[in-house]
Amino acid sequence: MNSIARNSTSSRQNQPRCYTAAELSVAGRDHIPELYQTGSHLIYSSPATLAYNSPGAEGFGVKRAGLSIPGSVMLIVSPGCCGRNTAEITRIKGCEDRFFYLQMNETDLVTGRHLRRIPAAVRRIAEFLPEKPSVVMICITCADALLGTDLERVCRKAEQEAGLPVRPCYMYALTREGRKPPMVYVRESLYSMLPKQKKRSTSVNLLGFFAPLHPESELFEILKKAGIRKVRQISTCSDLQDFYQMGEANFNLVLNPEARGAADALTERLGIPSIELSRFYETDLTEKQYHAFFGALGLPFPEITEGISREEADRAGAVLKEKHPDLSFSIGEVVDANPFELALTLLRMGWKVEEIFADPAPESYPFIDRIARLCPELKIYSNTDPSMLSYQRSGKDMDTALSRTESRMAGSHITIGKDAAYYCPDALHLYFNEDTQPFGYEAAWYLWTELMKLTEAGVRASAEDRYPEDLPGMHSPGSAGLFCAGGDQPDEDALSSEKTEDTESPVARRCIGQDTEQDTELHIDFSGRGPDLYLTPFAPDQSGAVSALYALDGMIVILDAGGCTGNILGFDEPRWQNKKAAVFSAGLRDMDAIMGRDRELVRKAKKAFANTGCSFIALVGTPVPSIIGTDYHALERMLEKQCGCPVISIPTNGMKTCEEGLSKTYLTLFQRFSGRTDNKDEAMQKKAEHGKNGTAGVIGCTPLELVHLPDQDRIRDILMDKGFGRVIFYGADAAREDYEHAGENDRNFVLSGAGIQAAAYLKKTFGTPYEIGYPGIEEELQKLPESFKGALEKKAVRVLILHDPVAAASLKASLQQSYAGKRMRIDCASFFSEKDTDPSLMAAGDVPVKPDFALRSEQDLLQLLSGGQYDYIFADPVCSKMPAGDAVWIPFPCFAISGKRILT
Ligand code: SF4
Repeated sequence: MNSIARNSTSSRQNQPRCYTAAELSVAGRDHIPELYQTGSHLIYSSPATLAYNSPGAEGFGVKRAGLSIPGSVMLIVSPGCCGRNTAEITRIKGCEDRFFYLQMNETDLVTGRHLRRIPAAVRRIAEFLPEKPSVVMICITCADALLGTDLERVCRKAEQEAGLPVRPCYMYALTREGRKPPMVYVRESLYSMLPKQKKRSTSVNLLGFFAPLHPESELFEILKKAGIRKVRQISTCSDLQDFYQMGEANFNLVLNPEARGAADALTERLGIPSIELSRFYETDLTEKQYHAFFGALGLPFPEITEGISREEADRAGAVLKEKHPDLSFSIGEVVDANPFELALTLLRMGWKVEEIFADPAPESYPFIDRIARLCPELKIYSNTDPSMLSYQRSGKDMDTALSRTESRMAGSHITIGKDAAYYCPDALHLYFNEDTQPFGYEAAWYLWTELMKLTEAGVRASAEDRYPEDLPGMHSPGSAGLFCAGGDQPDEDALSSEKTEDTESPVARRCIGQDTEQDTELHIDFSGRGPDLYLTPFAPDQSGAVSALYALDGMIVILDAGGCTGNILGFDEPRWQNKKAAVFSAGLRDMDAIMGRDRELVRKAKKAFANTGCSFIALVGTPVPSIIGTDYHALERMLEKQCGCPVISIPTNGMKTCEEGLSKTYLTLFQRFSGRTDNKDEAMQKKAEHGKNGTAGVIGCTPLELVHLPDQDRIRDILMDKGFGRVIFYGADAAREDYEHAGENDRNFVLSGAGIQAAAYLKKTFGTPYEIGYPGIEEELQKLPESFKGALEKKAVRVLILHDPVAAASLKASLQQSYAGKRMRIDCASFFSEKDTDPSLMAAGDVPVKPDFALRSEQDLLQLLSGGQYDYIFADPVCSKMPAGDAVWIPFPCFAISGKRILT
């Protein structure tokens, strides 16, 4: 162990750990402290971690980068959890309708049969799209990394079968620090498609970024003056043929080190040499680099007359300095810059840099050594270290609190990078992380210009921008209504004729109804498994587990390689934005999986736990532990011994849907914390003492289960009106002691299918009665269009309700009540009802939570809709893309399906 590790600047408990620039410089690049080595601790989910670990959620991760070839589409072959956050990417212009999914289940893991389905899935996608894609990228993930899948071979087979190019793409989070991290691999894969072309001495490629350089960059001018007539970037290629022309380049300019591997492969395969240029904000470094480049070409460096010159960039910096001489900065790593080089540039300009949030690498040391001479006390934090949780909680680092508060008061503290903004919410924020890339002198000029604009306007970019409630394409408050108006007067005769088409199907499910129309049998074949063409994967079981645990004071350790945690916190868990919990990724790597390093995991968890102040530990499973056969009980025992606290585990696997994780977690929490029979009598006594103003427990109200987030307040009001003195929401605001005293609840209310098992357990253990239903759901009926009443007068109307089983059944009951005596057939369907509910768990007044159609996948829903038999469909708006005859779609938001939160 090196000396620096024992002398960290913040070594007190519950303090964010960091080192000063001087400490790092003295220790040297060969002794980088373990704080900055992600393999040495659990991983904290800062915005920087999420930007990396949730690839595709922001910027260019593997998924979005994989679609760089014009006209290409991607088939993600993985457990559902890996594709979940793709819903976010599909909102980016140009990425809509380009992702498809082939979801794996447990049998696939054992038999590998999902690989045999890929060629047919590719063919199906090609048939489905109005235009044949130029390339189909097949993206596989941790599961296939562990299975050792030969994707190249599968792609060749798919190419033969589908008759179009099919290329591999690896989202191997487990190999993040390996020889070929995913972002290196994806570049190699894309450029491996370039065919050999006749060389053109006047043609050059820019490799490194997936979006174009700023056109103002002087790089274009100086290349022109070097005799280059054609500069190609993958992001500006108009079509596949244009992309193929990159193969004619005389040389490649590598602008991002992650493209080195691809450039080397092109040198070897096509004989295209490469030269590397870096982006600097110190213009003298840029100048030296340009001179060296032209020296290598044997040419004198030309005068810049069109693009941004060094003088222009320096002038912009000087003007900013003159106007704002006392700025101070905090710098993150989610920026279009090397954060250490950027910090050094700012220090050299005479400004103050208080802290950097980034892990130093050996190549950062030339900058760190110079920073140490200018500002030895500058602090360097790691975005991934669990101790950063306390940085957020306190909102300030004690040692620099005074200076930063003073500078903020003067309005002169600026964060650069979204991660820095997150830690310093009161400063002015420049995110400086865009798709299009600054380069050369233009990068420096652009930085100074953006800072000038920021200081002049005093604009604070909101840290909440990441999760705007009203995203494009979503309904804003008050705009609720029909989102897909079909014919509102369906042909009456069509009802009977469509039914007969399905009578040959092998699987039949009976629609249980109350009037004669509802006794009709629908025969639906649910046997097919193909690619998902319309819907992104649903919220997985691991998101459900974390959602149920989130509000408690437990330390949650997600046993994954990082991406699962990114998907959960960066996508499925809206509370992460405002209310932090101690949720960490185990940061598993391929060798952890191969060697089964449980002791190492226990060591990391123990270390993190000591600083959290949490009262228990929860382990949450993902595909990786399910594949390597992690022994959860052994881990629980080891951790309990080491940490001296209760440890629970939820063996989710990312292949099931959220209700499974929610249900398992609710039950485990009640069993573990309230299941002591020794407090049964005491609980009964307390219940008796409550009298009229008893306690209501509501189970199933996490953000994944609520139809609308504000429903919690409405349900509280409804239950208070019923006479309950206290309402506890399990999964939302219940604390651990509420679980411990759950036996004292006078009545429990079950809001989602995932809460039934837990409520039944409490009834069995403490005799607490429960009711199943979603109070207040009748509000949704206000969205029914005028045509509904008219249709009811004319004929038997067919309605489909798609949601969680309890929400769907509750809405069905409301509809039946509101239109009693009318001819309707109402079917409930759900993706979240894999387990049939034991009838003995139901009471007389409960809504029937077994849906008429238990759907497993998008294909099941397509089949259900294929006859066009429904007149009205209550479903999440994303489903309205699916063909459903003349049905009128009525928005019934289900975040677990769409991943879109809608205010209605
Ligand atoms: S880390 Fe999780 S989400 Fe990411 S690829 Fe691996 S299994 Fe999938």
